Amino acid sequence: GEAMAFDLAETARVSALWVERGSKSDVVVDFSGLDSLRVRGVPGHVQQIVMNLVQNAIDAVADSPAPRVCIALQHHDGMARMIVSDTGPGVPADQRAAIFDPFYTTKPVGKGTGLGLSISAKIADEHGGQLILLPDGPGARFALDLPLVQAEG
Ligand code: ADP
Ligand code: MG
Repeated sequence: GEAMAFDLAETARVSALWVERGSKSDVVVDFSGLDSLRVRGVPGHVQQIVMNLVQNAIDAVADSPAPRVCIALQHHDGMARMIVSDTGPGVPADQRAAIFDPFYTTKPVGKGTGLGLSISAKIADEHGGQLILLPDGPGARFALDLPLVQAEG
């Protein structure tokens, strides 16, 4: 794929819908923040990040009494920021660094490859952005930052 300007909000909506449709769970992804957010990147690769984060969030809320997954779109420090948050148990403090390692998974054999976050973080880096786990809970909150495309005047 080639880098181009595209709407991260639209990519997030479409990607979340794909994951919802393919999932056995009835969890619906809620959206908040900006309706449109122009970024520069490879749309298919960014789509892969959104799908990984949403799948993880849906997995995480499986035993949650009030399961919720939310995507928020905003500006942050001159970048475009997408936050994927959930009402699951969050990431234990001693696992916060390990979750980005290739093949690190806490899921049963056959359910997780442990590659989603490492691939997603690599893609974000290649875009001049970043994928981080935000420190606040109680559930998990991942932030994807990508270069913003300023509207032409
Ligand atoms: P996989 O989903 O195949 O396990 P990932 O790289 O996507 O691999 O995630 C690695 C690990 O990070 C997961 O197994 C889980 O322990 C943790 N993790 C990822 N997302 C969440 C989340 N939303 N809530 C809690 N833990 C998470
Ligand atoms: Mg995953």
